[in-house]
Amino acid sequence: SLGLPPRVKLVLLGDSGVGKSCLALRFTRGVFDAGCRATVGAAFSSATVTVPGSTASCKLEIWDTAGQERYQSLAPLYYRGAHAAAIVYDVTERRTFAKAQHWLEELRRYAGLTMVLILVGNKTDLAPQRQVAEEEGRHLADSIGAMFVETSAATGINVAEVFEGVASRLAGGMPVS
Ligand code: GDP
Ligand code: MG
Repeated sequence: SLGLPPRVKLVLLGDSGVGKSCLALRFTRGVFDAGCRATVGAAFSSATVTVPGSTASCKLEIWDTAGQERYQSLAPLYYRGAHAAAIVYDVTERRTFAKAQHWLEELRRYAGLTMVLILVGNKTDLAPQRQVAEEEGRHLADSIGAMFVETSAATGINVAEVFEGVASRLAGGMPVS
């Protein structure tokens, strides 16, 4: 392995409302704020991440869209130099899963194919409202060569796995799933 870069740029992609900002807040601050859409104006946060089972660590710079995903397309600056992308959908909104493919295509247009990708199905705490099965997410992830995890920013389940998984893959380690 070439080793983990000291600073890793991770971009968050996915439709408005899927929970990108809440996932970043949960990971970097350890909290869930149901009103985080309003309270998290910041488009940027960072945290030190240690690769599970090793001493390797990096500074993970998390780029959030600050609402620009409403315009269907993000500026090239957003993607420039990114090492990794997390494509997030909401397991209770099937149309956000369909849109994951759109975000992947945009990513390829701007960033090529070398980036580490992880597909994230968020809001698993809302089990009665689920519209997308875990197997569907895993199948899409396999088809695009991405890692896959289902999360809840509300409960915190699997949220660290998103960011640690990216660091682990960049360090040349095993994927999380
Ligand atoms: P973004 O537009 O992708 O950044 O989405 P936000 O992070 O702003 O979240 C959109 C809405 O979904 C907010 O009302 C959050 O409280 C809610 N939300 C985010 N993650 C979860 C989750 O894991 N479970 C539940 N129940 N709600 C969530
Ligand atoms: Mg947001």
